[in-house]
Amino acid sequence: MDSSPEILDFDSSDENGPENSGIFLQQWEAQVRPYIEMIDFMRRIGIEKELALPSIAVVGDQSSGKSSVLEALSGVALPRGSGIVTRCPLELKLRKLINGTGWTAIISYNEVRETFHDPAQVESYVRRAQNMLAGDGVGICDDLISLEITSPDVCDLTLIDLPGITRVPVKGQPEDIGDQIRRLILKFTSKKETINLVVVPCNVDIATTEALRMAQGVDPDGLRTLAILTKPDLIDKGAEADILQVLQGKVVPLKKGYTIVRCRGQSDINENVSLVEATRQEKEFFAKHTQFSYLLEEQRATIPCLSTRLTKELVGHIKSSLPSLRDQIHIHLSAVRVELKNYSDGPPLEPERMGPYLSKKILEFSDQISELCRTGDSDTGNLYSYLRPVFKQWECHLSSSKASFRESVKQMTEKYDEAHRGRELVTFSDYCVYESMVKKHVGDLKQPALDTLKFIRGIVQKEFMVMCELCFPNYPHLRHIILNHIDDIQSKQESKVEKRIHEYINMEKLVYTQDPIFNQKIVDFKFVEKRQEYETVSLDMGENATSPHNCAVFDTRSLTPDKLIIYYEIVYQRLADYIPMVILLFILKEAAVMLRAHSMDLRDGADVVKLLVEDTEAGRKRADLHQRMERLRLAQERISIYL
Ligand code: GDP
Ligand code: MG
Repeated sequence: MDSSPEILDFDSSDENGPENSGIFLQQWEAQVRPYIEMIDFMRRIGIEKELALPSIAVVGDQSSGKSSVLEALSGVALPRGSGIVTRCPLELKLRKLINGTGWTAIISYNEVRETFHDPAQVESYVRRAQNMLAGDGVGICDDLISLEITSPDVCDLTLIDLPGITRVPVKGQPEDIGDQIRRLILKFTSKKETINLVVVPCNVDIATTEALRMAQGVDPDGLRTLAILTKPDLIDKGAEADILQVLQGKVVPLKKGYTIVRCRGQSDINENVSLVEATRQEKEFFAKHTQFSYLLEEQRATIPCLSTRLTKELVGHIKSSLPSLRDQIHIHLSAVRVELKNYSDGPPLEPERMGPYLSKKILEFSDQISELCRTGDSDTGNLYSYLRPVFKQWECHLSSSKASFRESVKQMTEKYDEAHRGRELVTFSDYCVYESMVKKHVGDLKQPALDTLKFIRGIVQKEFMVMCELCFPNYPHLRHIILNHIDDIQSKQESKVEKRIHEYINMEKLVYTQDPIFNQKIVDFKFVEKRQEYETVSLDMGENATSPHNCAVFDTRSLTPDKLIIYYEIVYQRLADYIPMVILLFILKEAAVMLRAHSMDLRDGADVVKLLVEDTEAGRKRADLHQRMERLRLAQERISIYL
């Protein structure tokens, strides 16, 4: 705690008071004002959203004289009355106007900020604010009302007036009003940055005062508790000695001791005693008091003395809080920086830098798309690993269709004479009948091929879209446009492939292959050997085999299933590859090229600002982080001047 002699040694009994004592005032100003201003600056930039600032909170039982003390200190008439009057924390910022005259007050709460120049209006403005925040009636509210008063007649101080401690709810108050108020008071008094100004009237049993007990609870060592005794004029005759015991710290010891003040009583107010007059009367009261007059010399009595004392305490408190403030700012700054990294840097604010930024973003997306379609291995897993199982399924379907094809041809051959034979002689058969069988089977492959196409389109489209979401998580417009592009392109490409599939199937219905290919298959499938085996078996069948009625050996139709299955093998090979190839070409390769081109085109003549409009949530979050960072940076800069 600072103990500058210039501050401590002023003589409060000096007729002029500290404000007018020339050289002293200059020193006072030089020492106090910068700190008060620094805290003001911090408050103004909203640093309290991050950390607690040094302040003075006024605590006391209802009607202990809190508002009267504040009023005397500030020269401002605050709402008074019996019962609960202060229903929201009220931050009273007193600013001494150095050069100039006039009185200005600014009241702010929630979004409201109003300026007025008539001290008589304070009461109504504060009441209105309280009604807005805590509702009409007797409820309380945690929201802070801030009242800043600039005048040549006040000293630099910031105080927070809190609702008075109460035990019994009055009509209209919830049962737990006492607990609510205590909780609210503790919110302020428990912070180590707060100096607790405990107001205790002289005409009660001081030792059992709830306010003192609460203050001791949050500050057991009494490092930041100051007690003020009020209403010394109401002490019962003969009880003065008890009060002196209290003042000397013999009843409830407090490190920072007690200050005694006399404020305007109800009758003074009724008689319109001015604050200036009240100050004079107060001084006279103590000067003439047989037991208390020595307190004037010890600077432990009167409002002006209290005011100087408070300012000194506050400045000392600010000074001692600086290192911890600096450390907290540092910690918060690092945290905000880390968090900002998670919100990848947003678009530049300058329009001329937006175009290049958009290009960069789109290029990144374009690169990601081509990376996705790369054939090589990729750590992130390329698309082919998703597509391969679908193509494999197509191949399996084709492969399994061979068996049913063979079975169909076999049955056709066996039932040929009954079911299909026309004019041809026995053992002869019509090629067209078999050809139509091939056509039918090939035709049945169309739907599975189309299904494969749909499946693949689904996968590719999803992957492209996921990539778009990943690349533009914060730009809904851009995302919307590109997602639409992806869908359009895929639809276009799908219908192209559909057409190709129809064509392929129709081509296959031509039932055609080059002779060398067919010959090669015959060799590959050891068809000649199989044939010989068959003939041997047939000829070994004994007499039946040579029976004049048995045409089996002459009936070359029995070769048909084998011949056709060899042809179907060729169909299988062609379609097993072509269908995946045509799908890959259009749905993946071409689509990626188209998508990249379309995305690049977005850069030309685009409404860049609109494209880079951010998602409300992400944008807000980033803006908020930037604001916090700026606040903390300013605070850091400012605080470093003092350390
Ligand atoms: P609060 O509820 O703690 O804010 O108390 P107030 O400041 O409203 O004071 C309660 C009553 O005590 C008011 O009527 C004041 O005028 C009166 N009062 C405050 N201080 C003094 C004092 O020093 N002497 C006398 N006689 N009355 C006082
Ligand atoms: Mg009050």
